[in-house]
Amino acid sequence: MRTDQFRPSVIDPTEFEFVAVGNQNIDEIIGGPILLRQQRELIESHMKQTGGTWSKHSHGGSCFICGAWFIYYCVFYHQKTNTYHKVGFQCTEKLDFYETRLLDSYKTSFKNALAQQKGKQNAQSILEQKSLGLAYEIYTNEIETDDRCFNQVSVICDIVHRLVKYGKISDKQISFLRDLLYQVENYVEYMSQRDAELNDVKEGRYEIRGTVQNVYCVDGDWGIQMKMVLKTEDNTIVIGSVPSNIISAVEKDSQVQLTATVVQKRNDPKIGYFSRPAKAKIIN
Ligand SMILES: [Zn+2]
Repeated sequence: MRTDQFRPSVIDPTEFEFVAVGNQNIDEIIGGPILLRQQRELIESHMKQTGGTWSKHSHGGSCFICGAWFIYYCVFYHQKTNTYHKVGFQCTEKLDFYETRLLDSYKTSFKNALAQQKGKQNAQSILEQKSLGLAYEIYTNEIETDDRCFNQVSVICDIVHRLVKYGKISDKQISFLRDLLYQVENYVEYMSQRDAELNDVKEGRYEIRGTVQNVYCVDGDWGIQMKMVLKTEDNTIVIGSVPSNIISAVEKDSQVQLTATVVQKRNDPKIGYFSRPAKAKIIN
């Protein structure tokens, strides 16, 4: 039989002030999305202001009031005793706070953050097993890369992001990743060698024939787009979206022919971007 002052039968709901939403397992999430951080900061700054402390409860369970077990809770401040109470959602209703939307979005953020964290750990261990740990470090910004490697870095991040999200990576992506990492690690050398090998891209609309160096996806404003990098017969590199009529057939080393408008990349005449492709076909 409880005799404490916070047992359900004797509390005065009007004495409790809602502070924030919380989760028992919050410490499992490092960083976390903004909503989780906000709620945690609300609690911290509130406590700082009042100098209050967590209420001690000797009855079992999680809820400071009724003892029910929970994962999600609301934090209430009790001014008279200058204490904070973690309260489950059933008691929350009694304390006259029931903000379903806040609770729902908090739960969603928490689940997403947890899934993302698991995805990240999984991605890291898969990449490390393949000796591609560097790709994970680039993705998480743990190491700095040469600014001029922007293209390689963005494709690396894209591949790792997909691995985090979907939990798998194809053999093709692994070998592509290896190539990209090699380029990033040996960037200066790679660029001078590349510049010696390549011609400047010719601008205008013309027929291009070339070999696909790689195919990759970008998740942009217009949804997911497949891009391909072509090494042309003129010995230049051009990049653009894969035309829809060959999208299912195109792969690394495909010989492709198309007519498109080509412009040089800013500050890099060895790279071109093609757009408005027409009459695309695979010729091997
Ligand atoms: Zn309760």
